[in-house]
Amino acid sequence: MPGPYDVVVVGAGNAALCAALAAREQGAKVAVLEKAGFDERGGNSYYTAGGFRFPYRGIEDIRGVIPDLSDAEVEGIEVGSYDRNAMYDDVMRVTESQADSELLEHLLTNAYPTVQWLKDYAGLHWVLMYGRQAYKVDGKLRFWGGMITEAVGGGAGLVDQEFTACERLGVDVLYGTKGVSLVTDPKSGAVTGLRIKDENGFSEIETKTVVIAAGGFEANMEMRTRYLGAGWEFVKVRGTRHNTGDGIKMALDIGAQSYGHWSGAHAVAWDYNAPPTGNRRIGDLYQKHSYPLGLIFNMKGERFVDEGADLRNYTYAKYGREILKQPLGIAFQVFDQQTIGMLRDEYRIKEITKAESDTIPGLAADLGIDVGEFVRQVEAYNAACKGGDYDPSRLDGVGTEGIDPPKSNWALPLSKPPYVGFAVTCGITFTFGGLRIKANTAQVLDTEDVPMPGLYAAGELVGGLFWHNYPGGTGLMAGSVFGRTAGAAAAKAALGK
Ligand SMILES: Cc1cc2nc3c(=O)[nH]c(=O)nc-3n(C[C@H](O)[C@H](O)[C@H](O)COP(=O)(O)OP(=O)(O)OC[C@H]3O[C@@H](n4cnc5c(N)ncnc54)[C@H](O)[C@@H]3O)c2cc1C
Repeated sequence: MPGPYDVVVVGAGNAALCAALAAREQGAKVAVLEKAGFDERGGNSYYTAGGFRFPYRGIEDIRGVIPDLSDAEVEGIEVGSYDRNAMYDDVMRVTESQADSELLEHLLTNAYPTVQWLKDYAGLHWVLMYGRQAYKVDGKLRFWGGMITEAVGGGAGLVDQEFTACERLGVDVLYGTKGVSLVTDPKSGAVTGLRIKDENGFSEIETKTVVIAAGGFEANMEMRTRYLGAGWEFVKVRGTRHNTGDGIKMALDIGAQSYGHWSGAHAVAWDYNAPPTGNRRIGDLYQKHSYPLGLIFNMKGERFVDEGADLRNYTYAKYGREILKQPLGIAFQVFDQQTIGMLRDEYRIKEITKAESDTIPGLAADLGIDVGEFVRQVEAYNAACKGGDYDPSRLDGVGTEGIDPPKSNWALPLSKPPYVGFAVTCGITFTFGGLRIKANTAQVLDTEDVPMPGLYAAGELVGGLFWHNYPGGTGLMAGSVFGRTAGAAAAKAALGK
């Protein structure tokens, strides 16, 4: 076993790789441990769109991270601005004011500089999210929703570029190597090493510090049921099968403080026939995120959420849970020809559960929905549509009147056949509960709020930032910010800087 190291990073997703790069930048000797083999490397980060949310003042800030945007391209787009206060308000609004304000302030201060650092230090390339976060309005592509930039190549491109940077800068990446438990000095409690398991069995790596970035517990059926509640055994896991809560458990075992929304998770509408865990070829395309352009029903033919409550980025992560509450955990997204052409790319893959019909009762029958109730609810909805100036790129106020639940924006009558329906279930993305860290060093706190010597954490397994819900694109951004913070602080501690 190589070593000893200054910094060992447990996990090899976006947060871990940012930690490793930041530790190397300080001159530390660094290893990254990936439980998965090479073919499954990169954690949930691999499955993402690579979309990052960060505050920006306008097109000049966007050009600061995408320098090759041509003048002609800039002429044809509107990126608006998304300032620090807007991002603060979005996080606080969707988390019902529960987000830890110290973590959030650290995230807001460091988000844009970290995106630039990834470009300059790690050599990452960025691009605007043309396909998913822009609608054509008045001849221009108008970006909306605070998350408008993604890594070139999406999540796969993101982690590939980060792994390449790690290799170039001399980080050891050990595949098929699982972190099992932390080794500590019996007197001071300081972390001195890590017990691991690889193809040769169990052994120990000596290290001065450890950064845990091993994801949440979304792929652990027992922990899901224990913490999220009955029924969560049945959900589909959108990403890696390897995020089984190991990192959280190994830190709790030596006295770390648990923190955050342990019964909460990010969960979305996901194709009903998707496999139990993520498929690396399909990536995130089993998701079905265009429901603000249509309606959602359960098997009984009832609507059960306000599809237009907010811009999609601010509702999609909590609607998976609502789907799980429905009979058989199934729901149906329904569209007509007025909006079908605007659906996201994920509706055009062949691995999809879909029906199409020229009539409303025909669609219900094909999907297996109660026909009578479905027809009644569609008629009631159509009659309740107020009309107005329809604009999917903003909250247009084109809502319904007198039905419950309402559709608060983008309420067009379902009236232009053929009608198309997609069957979805609950897909869990990641869990919200985890470890408590000190914001400006990402050092793990013990149950008495004291920083634990040699122990740092970043990514999904940090609790306290997300509660109830989540603004799209914040997971990768938070992982990069706290990963970078953790890696730099761990390296400085290890090197006595
Ligand atoms: C389909 C999908 C789409 C998404 N889209 C977006 C998006 O566009 N934008 C966004 O911001 N967020 C998105 N997310 C959320 C995002 O994936 C997470 O917020 C982020 O990737 C978490 O990064 P992480 O580094 O903490 O965890 P991960 O990337 O999951 O990495 C965890 C790593 O730990 C490893 N590991 C686990 N246990 C051990 C162990 N015992 N020893 C060693 N290694 C271990 C795993 O193998 C993995 O490599 C999406 C998620 C999914 C599933």
